[in-house]
Amino acid sequence: MRRYALSEITEYAGVLIRRRYTPYNPRQYYKRLVTTEVEFLPSGGGCSMRSNWSFVFIVVAAVAFGSGSRFPSQELSKNPQTTTSVIVFGVGSPNITADRSGTSIGIVVGGRLYLFDAGAAVERRIMEATPKLAALQVQNFGPVFLTHLDMDHTLGLATLLYYHSIAAPGRLTNTSDSGTPLNVYGPGPVGGPPDADRAAIGIDAVMNHLQTAFAQQPFARGISGSNLQYNPVVHSTEITPGIVYRDSLVTVSAFKVSHKTAIAFGFRIQTADRVIVISGDTSPVEAVIDACSGCDLLFHEVFSLDFGPQGPRDAAQGHTSALELGEIARRARPKHLVIYHDVRIPSPAAGLDAIRKGFSGKVTFAQDLDTF
Ligand SMILES: [Zn+2]
Repeated sequence: MRRYALSEITEYAGVLIRRRYTPYNPRQYYKRLVTTEVEFLPSGGGCSMRSNWSFVFIVVAAVAFGSGSRFPSQELSKNPQTTTSVIVFGVGSPNITADRSGTSIGIVVGGRLYLFDAGAAVERRIMEATPKLAALQVQNFGPVFLTHLDMDHTLGLATLLYYHSIAAPGRLTNTSDSGTPLNVYGPGPVGGPPDADRAAIGIDAVMNHLQTAFAQQPFARGISGSNLQYNPVVHSTEITPGIVYRDSLVTVSAFKVSHKTAIAFGFRIQTADRVIVISGDTSPVEAVIDACSGCDLLFHEVFSLDFGPQGPRDAAQGHTSALELGEIARRARPKHLVIYHDVRIPSPAAGLDAIRKGFSGKVTFAQDLDTF
């Protein structure tokens, strides 16, 4: 008789839990929400996360969506079960270092981990965050949203092809079920390449290339010890500005920012209790100020202290100096400004001094695995 280790049993339990609680296809789900807002609403059955509060949330969100406002109303219902937490998985730049993983931010609400950017080694940081994710009762993963397709924001996607499942309690694990897709939202090739030497590809092409690269990869299934051919299922969506995703817990809006890539976005994430804005990589833009407008958390990049009278040069182009960020934050009025992607800042204290010339509110230079 085969003996099972405790870890195998808990992993198997995790598989069962996922199948029970993850009847989830965001694309279908989103279409249902858009076309028939009320039809979706459960009355307490089905998934345990979806209570009658979901009804209140969706109806209010639907009113805001239909009212012509640029972003959904912030007057959403409060529910302790939908408290939102943010875990910064990586604050790295293209320069590889041991203490900084590639850029990535996790937003957790209602037992689901939504990922914004997926830089190098994101899976390691997610695994290191297991105690936090367990405390937040995370049992579902994704979607993944990409601000732009630079490698410091996307190298982790290859790993996520095979590891985008959560085993209880809050532990990233092998995805061995072909019915569990990796859902990815990101820029298309709109606008073409900045120069003729760089191919203009969007997130669909990126994911297709990754799938092709690993198409023949045998996948070791941990629970049985045997190998089987597992071809990951990917649902990628090329986005345009506006609401790009909505479920009963979050509404994600994309807005265009100005970077060196063909197209780049920032994101505004609305939950029942928080408004969170992520700048992506960008020079100073009004869109960040509009999207935040008194938001709870503004995650913004920064590149050097001050570009000086000549303005940004070379690698600094398409980025925001600390001095400029102070002015952006002064006008955006976040309750908490978090720098999550800093380059060429001599020290957080020096960066803070420059930001303070424009913004007197709360400022944090994030490190990997910081929680907000
Ligand atoms: Zn970057």
